[in-house]
Amino acid sequence: MSSKGSTIYELDADNQICHIDGDWDQFLQANTDEPQNRDRLRKKQVIGNKLETYVQDTTTRMLLHTVFDFVRQTQQTKALPYRCDSADRKRYMSMQIEPLADAGLRVSHTQLRSEPMDPPVVINPVTDANEAIVWRCSICNRIESEQVWLEPDEAALLWCRQSFNVSYTVCPVCMNSV
Ligand SMILES: [Zn+2]
Repeated sequence: MSSKGSTIYELDADNQICHIDGDWDQFLQANTDEPQNRDRLRKKQVIGNKLETYVQDTTTRMLLHTVFDFVRQTQQTKALPYRCDSADRKRYMSMQIEPLADAGLRVSHTQLRSEPMDPPVVINPVTDANEAIVWRCSICNRIESEQVWLEPDEAALLWCRQSFNVSYTVCPVCMNSV
């Protein structure tokens, strides 16, 4: 995607996606690795689905509900910084949530800046509980081992690994910042 491109969508009171703006297809091409995910997320197929469908873990879903409730109740716009890394870039993003009429929300995702990931780190999301996994924070993208949360490249250097099988959650720092 272009570095300043935004992806914008609107949610109705039930968090159903009712409108999409911006470079959605392009955004997905740049941000989604697996082709089958990309197909599932094409613009036409996304309209009418609940946002929750696209959020993998329950902790992140809970956190988004908390933010959405806050915006609906206070009618205040809230910005949530997060990371959307690729294997070789740390991408610093912002998710802005604005209140609309009838308990709707407008959600804008914008890339603020990026830095190289050095060394590159391959992340494999794993759903099979039997596989050896580490936790990854879906907001800041850090990885947990023995209750220490590390940047992916720090973890790669420390553990001499180039890839991690991860399960998503939200780290305590991000949980407290919301
Ligand atoms: Zn975090």
